Amino acid sequence: MLRPRKPAESKLPPRLLRWHRAHGRHDLPWQHPPAPYRVWVSEIMLQQTQVATVMDYYRRFIARFPNVRALANAPLDDVLHLWSGLGYYARARNLHLTARLIRDKYHGRIPRAFEEIAALPGIGRSTAGAILALARGQRHAILDGNVKRVLTRYHAIKGWPGNKKIENKLWALAERHTPRAEVAAYTQAIMDLGAMLCTRTRPRCGECPLASGCRAHALGSETAFPAPRPLKMKPVRRTRMLLITCGSHVLLELRPPSGVWGGLWSLPEIPTSADANDWCRRELGAAPYAQQCWPALRHTFSHFHLDIEPLQLEIAAHMRIGDNARRRWVALANEPALGFAAPVKKLLQQLRLGTAEKTADTSFPLSPLGERARVREGQNPRFAKVRRAAE
Ligand code: SF4
Repeated sequence: MLRPRKPAESKLPPRLLRWHRAHGRHDLPWQHPPAPYRVWVSEIMLQQTQVATVMDYYRRFIARFPNVRALANAPLDDVLHLWSGLGYYARARNLHLTARLIRDKYHGRIPRAFEEIAALPGIGRSTAGAILALARGQRHAILDGNVKRVLTRYHAIKGWPGNKKIENKLWALAERHTPRAEVAAYTQAIMDLGAMLCTRTRPRCGECPLASGCRAHALGSETAFPAPRPLKMKPVRRTRMLLITCGSHVLLELRPPSGVWGGLWSLPEIPTSADANDWCRRELGAAPYAQQCWPALRHTFSHFHLDIEPLQLEIAAHMRIGDNARRRWVALANEPALGFAAPVKKLLQQLRLGTAEKTADTSFPLSPLGERARVREGQNPRFAKVRRAAE
């Protein structure tokens, strides 16, 4: 009777480990020490983001929140502020929420069991595997973007890896290649190979330790793998952002806790077809006396484009609203310690510096405050400068 053959030991790990000892990355800030909390924060930051971009954010984040309790006890605003510019803000919200869950349910210690970690908000199968492999040396496979690229090329796997069937195949290969010993080093090694040699557009196969067994390389078609996501036109959404200023202050609004830019501070938004003056009268009890259209800017999300039409409005007083939980007047002179999405941050910087190129679409004055507006305009060098640029 034929005995079932033992699966052959993968040749990939020893080659990868040898290469990694000599050429891998050993000085990343989350490697010293590779404590579970530090690895977790780095893995979340590294989702959709390259190491070079993450470094400074990571150092600032760990300096301010050195452990789970510090993160859990901080206000969400502080967390989002340190995340500003890194994008995909749901990651920061989940990090904060998960820190609170770990504080309350696990006494501030990251659990050791894979199932418990994988069940936490914002931590999927690959991230849970990476935390346990890198920080605790437990044998778990990972399948992040770099690993997907290496494996689809090494095995010449056809089809888009976002497809469930292809993804399952890749998980099976990832499991098969993960060694029983030196798991932490192997996990770092395969991520490093994807980031350093097996790059998206120009793989350096001549230096690759896996070249002799790589099917995509043998076919001479490395960049054909992985297959790209099937083309789908992204819809375009439009919005008008209001830069409402009153003297030296600008009005900010807190976005709802979930959804696009959830929990971040932003500018008030209205549909492009709505009347901004009506909005100001209704919401602020004050009519703007001057307005200025700024050039539109596009911000692209993973599933749609957002065309932003900024409109600067000056109002003479903010009688109806003071600071409250949802709206806040902040001084323009200093950047407030709040979380902003990248385009909002850019608009505020332009407002602060008065550097935006304004369009000629200017109406002035707008309201019965017209006469007063002219006087104020003369007294306000920043706004006068804005107008001259438009003329
Ligand atoms: S040989 Fe080239 S394509 Fe294959 S794994 Fe190495 S770098 Fe990637």
